[in-house]
Amino acid sequence: MTGGGVRAVVRKLRGKNIEIKSNGELDAMRAAGAVVARTLTLLERTARPGVSTAELNEVAEQSIREARAVPSFLGYHGFPGSICASVNHEVVHGIPSREQVLADGDLLSIDCGAILDGWHGDAAVTIEVGAVGASDRKLSAACRSALLSGIEVARLGARLTDISHTVENAIMEAGRADGVEYGIVADYGGHGIGTSMHMDPYLPNVGRPGRGPKLVAGMALAIEPMLTAGSHLTEELDDGWTVVTLDRSRAAHWEHTIAVTPDGPVVLTA
Ligand code: MG
Ligand code: MG
Repeated sequence: MTGGGVRAVVRKLRGKNIEIKSNGELDAMRAAGAVVARTLTLLERTARPGVSTAELNEVAEQSIREARAVPSFLGYHGFPGSICASVNHEVVHGIPSREQVLADGDLLSIDCGAILDGWHGDAAVTIEVGAVGASDRKLSAACRSALLSGIEVARLGARLTDISHTVENAIMEAGRADGVEYGIVADYGGHGIGTSMHMDPYLPNVGRPGRGPKLVAGMALAIEPMLTAGSHLTEELDDGWTVVTLDRSRAAHWEHTIAVTPDGPVVLTA
């Protein structure tokens, strides 16, 4: 899931309450992250035309419970699903539904979180259902590559918004290469993670570098760019959850939980 609203940025960037993990605790987080990664891989194989997002939710629920973990999204502020399933113009926080049956060419973003032994993992993928259009493939690839670029700078001595700035730059660069001006969703972002899903600091996907807390060993962050093929503006539907693009352009969302270590960034949800 995504971290807070944009109004919380200033307060959270001060980052006074950042949880620092021991190596043993990072190992425990990696185990939680592996449950998320396995579940997402299973969903990538299951998602195809004719399958409803409610069915994907059941597959995820079973996969997480079989690993003796708990789906962290279920009941989170009342969220009714174990995953978020956001189709096409839905950006994030889509509620799995029997009515939402996947069709050839859909772009499906699945966000998944699990708690194992008290530690959280959180990751998201955008899945191409059947044969998607070239512009959708590029949109998703741009989002994924921005995530990987952001992870790469999560190193000792860097500051938090170096990640934000790198993610933003990677998106702009991909947009230039693709001949598209991608919208970067700025009302939602990444977050610290560990004994809770959403912890300090809030991690914006845009901004100037060199600000926010210094990255130190034992920090864990969920990095999660959200891109649109049009306007960066979003709205929340009447269900109180589903975030859609204002112009109904398509969106992509990729996320990993990572740890900052002396050996560089480690992806915990790989
Ligand atoms: Mg998240
Ligand atoms: Mg997430």
